[in-house]
Amino acid sequence: MNPRAPIHVDKLEIDMLPIGRASHVWVELVTDGLAQVIEVPLLVVRGKRPGPVVGITAAVHGNELNGISVIHRLFETLPSRMISGTVVGVVVANVPGLHHHQREFDDGVDLNDIFPGNRAGSASQVYAYQLVERIIRQFDYLLDLHTASFGRVNSLYVRADMTHSETASMARLQNPQIILHNPPSDGTLRGAAMELGIPAITVEIADPHRFQPKYIRPTLAGVHAVLAHHGLIKPRAVKQESNPVVCDRSFWMYTDRGGLLNVHVDLASVVKKGDSVAVLRNAFGEVIAEYQAPESGVVIGKSVNPVAQTGARVVHLGLFDQAGKPSRAPRSLDRPKKKTT
Ligand SMILES: [Zn+2]
Repeated sequence: MNPRAPIHVDKLEIDMLPIGRASHVWVELVTDGLAQVIEVPLLVVRGKRPGPVVGITAAVHGNELNGISVIHRLFETLPSRMISGTVVGVVVANVPGLHHHQREFDDGVDLNDIFPGNRAGSASQVYAYQLVERIIRQFDYLLDLHTASFGRVNSLYVRADMTHSETASMARLQNPQIILHNPPSDGTLRGAAMELGIPAITVEIADPHRFQPKYIRPTLAGVHAVLAHHGLIKPRAVKQESNPVVCDRSFWMYTDRGGLLNVHVDLASVVKKGDSVAVLRNAFGEVIAEYQAPESGVVIGKSVNPVAQTGARVVHLGLFDQAGKPSRAPRSLDRPKKKTT
């Protein structure tokens, strides 16, 4: 174990970095209340030939960690595979949030509501601004890696504008279980990147606050496919299976009263209109409400927190692109069990 000495800079300058090996870079964004720098860790590798810059961001929400492992694993083999262009892994975008084990920045604000930030704004606004100005602006493409929020779990799904040819192809190459057509909304990093002309997709990788190999592995395969598509690495000889279920819209079901919630549908399962998806019990265990799917769709995410006040989230339901179209379940990410003889 002999960690490489990282470099410290106040702006990512790709041309200053060596070609053919991974650079470990800390980029200063702001300073804290003791006048110490708050820096963001980056992994950067450049190929021998010029080409696009693909950025991958993790932990914009400080408790969404699977993306960190995706970037670490990617960079284990990337230097020897690079042909052209540059890959920048922003290992942790929201450093204060990570330290606090929380989604938000350390002033309680959700960074993914305030991009592209404000140079002269509040603590979180300045941080978001500098993240964009000092790092993100240099990307030609962006993969923003997230997970579900506290108390919820997600399938492996991609949010992308499927009417935009570049982001639609990135979404399909990423090959998740589910693709949700979703034009970028104001304030998100994806939206700010798209405004800057950087095609961007959001990859939602399962659950918060965990490293989950079952979901990290297929996400990494998808990242490799995106990099190969843009010529940064050689395509893999084995073509990956590609059949994500595409939803053209989605919505959350909410409880209409408070109680103890039990959601009994599986992630990435198909439900039919009228199917029971959850029950709510009172303090004595009596069922006080049952929730049915108002439309047929696929379970993109769901609550796993039983303590459900009125208005608690229940199920994130994705709707298929054509009403009445025969529905199929997304692929399972479970590996086939090894045969025992
Ligand atoms: Zn997130």
